Amino acid sequence: MEKIVDLVAPRSCVGLFFKAAILVSCFTVFDYAARTAAQSFIAQHAGAAQLVTFLIGAPFGLFVMAIMTVQHKLKMQLQYLSETDLLTGLPNRNAFFARAGDAMKERGQGAVLMIDVDNFKAINDSFGHYAGDLALAQIGQHLKHTLRPTDIVGRIGGEEFAVVLDASDLETIERVTNRLCTTLVVDARRSADNTLETFDVTFSIGGAVILPGHDLTQSLRHADHALYQAKTNGRDQVVIHRIEDGNAQTTLSA
Ligand code: GH3
Ligand code: MG
Ligand code: MG
Repeated sequence: MEKIVDLVAPRSCVGLFFKAAILVSCFTVFDYAARTAAQSFIAQHAGAAQLVTFLIGAPFGLFVMAIMTVQHKLKMQLQYLSETDLLTGLPNRNAFFARAGDAMKERGQGAVLMIDVDNFKAINDSFGHYAGDLALAQIGQHLKHTLRPTDIVGRIGGEEFAVVLDASDLETIERVTNRLCTTLVVDARRSADNTLETFDVTFSIGGAVILPGHDLTQSLRHADHALYQAKTNGRDQVVIHRIEDGNAQTTLSA
């Protein structure tokens, strides 16, 4: 069956030019649609391939499918690399703040936690930087497995992590933070002689409740201040910042 483009232009240089122009236009239009209209990957591929097949033939439709599949894979890889902290597998700083912002817009309330590993420099100094890296990877797994899928956790700095909890009642916050603020036994190899070592890691945690109308940035600041208090109170503990009747209050748990 004659394709539309062959009716418009005979098989000649002009015809080839038309085919190339149609291919480029289809790529551009469907790529734009996928980015702006949040069109799904499958709809984007099927639409582009169908249109190209209809206009200039099945081989070109298959070609479009192949190119778009590769393009999609590369996009996914790029997105993963730009959002993930590769040492722990957790969302990186930018991804954490983006997801936390979206979650708070959607839910309106919750709680934020700032978590800092205690005396981490001493771990590096005693066991070596490689052992420190392995400890961070295990800490990432500990946080991920202790929290629920609806909580958001990210590595926001060297040995600092942040969490948005899908709960704003003190009882749940304390239950979760007590599970997080445990002594974690970490396995790692000593850099100097490769001997297998086991050492204890503890955490200091500062938290703040976010209620409707509260600002995420402000709550993170309160949580950071509570973390500072947990450190100065002796580490390995949780401090929760609360505002009641306009006054800041703290809850401590060792
Ligand atoms: P504190 O209890 O007061 O938090 O003491 P600390 O030693 O944990 O804190 P400090 O800020 O003095 O040191 C943080 C250390 O974390 C220093 C830095 O070398 C180490 N660190 C940061 N990022 C990494 C990393 O990716 N890998 C390793 N191995 N160490 C890291
Ligand atoms: Mg720190
Ligand atoms: Mg620390």
